[in-house]
Amino acid sequence: MFKTRFWGVRGTIACPYDSYMKYGGNTSCVTVQCDDTLLIFDSGTGILPLGNKLMANGRGNISVFFSHTHWDHISGFPFFKPAYSPNFNLDLYCGNLKKYGSSIFEVLSHQMANPTFPVPIDILQAKMKYHDFDAGQNVKVSDDIHLDTCLLNHPKGATGYRVNFNGKSVCYVTDTEHNKDRLDDNILKLIENTDLFIYDSTYTEEEYPNFEGWGHSTWQEGVRLSKEAGVKNYAIFHHDPSHDDDFMDNVELEAKEVFSDAFVAKEGMEIDFNGKTIEFGKFDDKP
Ligand SMILES: [Zn+2]
Ligand SMILES: [Zn+2]
Repeated sequence: MFKTRFWGVRGTIACPYDSYMKYGGNTSCVTVQCDDTLLIFDSGTGILPLGNKLMANGRGNISVFFSHTHWDHISGFPFFKPAYSPNFNLDLYCGNLKKYGSSIFEVLSHQMANPTFPVPIDILQAKMKYHDFDAGQNVKVSDDIHLDTCLLNHPKGATGYRVNFNGKSVCYVTDTEHNKDRLDDNILKLIENTDLFIYDSTYTEEEYPNFEGWGHSTWQEGVRLSKEAGVKNYAIFHHDPSHDDDFMDNVELEAKEVFSDAFVAKEGMEIDFNGKTIEFGKFDDKP
C-alpha cells in the first residue's frame, strides 16, 4: 500500500468558514502510508482528526517530518493525542534548525510553555525521539522507505521531502519562494519523474509581486517545475487564507488548461497509487 492523504491544505492560518469547506480550512498536514508505516508531514491544525483516528488504533509507530516550524506547520502538535499516549513511538524530524543552533525539541518545548500553553512538553507520554538534520541529507526510515530532502528558499529555511517506496514516490515541497529568472535546481532534482508533487502554490502570478520576500510561490511556477521535471501529478497546496472555494475552483480550471495533471489539494482527499491510476477518496469518510 502506498497512499497519500490531505488532512490540512491551508497555509498561514486556519479558515473555518462556510465558503472554505470544499477545499478545507485546516493548516498543513499530509500523510503518506507505506504499508504499515505512517509518515506525517507537518502538524498544522489538520493533524487533530488524524490524531483521533490513530488513537482508535490504540498504538503505533509514527514519524513526523516538519518542513519547518512556522505556526501553520506546528500549531496542531500540542493537540495531537498520540503524543500523550505511552502506546505510541513518535520520531520527529526537522531539517532547517540545526544550522541555527536550535532543534525541533527546543521549538516544540517553547510552543508548549507558559504563558502561551498550560502544560509543558514533559507531560507527553509517547516515546519521543527528536532527529535534527541538515536539509539535503537523506533520511532512511526503514530498508524499504527512503527520503531524499532538499533545502527550500524560505525565511530561516525549510525542507522539501521525497518519499521513495516500492518504485513510486511522493514529494512534499512547502514553504518555498521561487527565483524570478530560473527554476529552482534543488527542487527540480528532488521531484524528477515523481508520481505526486505537492507544492507551495500560495499565490497566483498576478498576486505574487505584492508578496516578494514572504517565502512563497505560485501555482504557475508549480506547473513550470512539473513540466520540466516530468511530474505525473501536481497538487496545488498551501492555499492562501484569502482564497475561498470559488477562487480555488478557478485556480484548478486555469491550471488544468496548461497542465492537465494539476489539481487543487482538498482536505480529505486520498490518492492511492494503484498502478498508474489515481483515485480520490470521499470527504464523508473523515474520522
Ligand atoms: Zn506555511
Ligand atoms: Zn513558513
